[in-house]
Amino acid sequence: MDEALARTWITAAAEAVRAEADRLTDLDAAIGDGDHGVNLRRGFDAAVAALESLEPTTAGDVLGKTGTTLLSKVGGASGPLYGTVFRALGKTLRQGGSLADGLQAALDGVQQLGKAVVGDKTMVDALSPAVAAYAAAAGEGEAAAARAAADAAAEGVRATVPLKARKGRASYLGERSIGHPDPGATSTALILAVLAEVTAGGVTARDSAR
Ligand code: ADP
Ligand code: MG
Repeated sequence: MDEALARTWITAAAEAVRAEADRLTDLDAAIGDGDHGVNLRRGFDAAVAALESLEPTTAGDVLGKTGTTLLSKVGGASGPLYGTVFRALGKTLRQGGSLADGLQAALDGVQQLGKAVVGDKTMVDALSPAVAAYAAAAGEGEAAAARAAADAAAEGVRATVPLKARKGRASYLGERSIGHPDPGATSTALILAVLAEVTAGGVTARDSAR
């Protein structure tokens, strides 16, 4: 991933989050406090603004800057977790690691911070299978790996529906959290779907700036 692609990813992700904010908020209203879409939209809009004032740099710096911005602007449980994802991606790329390494570091960071495992009905249910799918398909190139990751994340979201939440606000609902997809898993799959699109060349920087 080069700097241009990293910028395109974040800009297009912000656009997707804006388009899906109401749906994410509705999902969070069903099993949480109804702020997930608003939280993420605020964070990604701030990240885009931060990148606009960032001098030409590297993909690692773009993603790291995104992480620190999300950390301070998203709020809620998901703010520190999304901050961790992008800071880990940034740090790994800056150190010369691959996107596969970065995604693994992101998952490790999220799990260290939030202590959730697959099946707890959190973003880990989307991120964990996505990281594995990316690694498995990495030999086929970035676009194919990102597509595999996005598909695995979407499948992970579907798998959260019958689960009872064991972490975060939704866990306070106990059995009543059953029957709804997890909002954070849903937004994770959305952001990975955007990664698949931009790596495939479907969205250019000019498209996403419009
Ligand atoms: P809050 O729950 O504070 O209102 P958000 O609504 O922005 O924060 O985000 C909720 C999402 O955060 C959940 O759907 C879940 O995916 C994720 N989440 C919450 N707690 C954890 C955790 N401990 N580990 C991983 N993800 C978590
Ligand atoms: Mg919430």
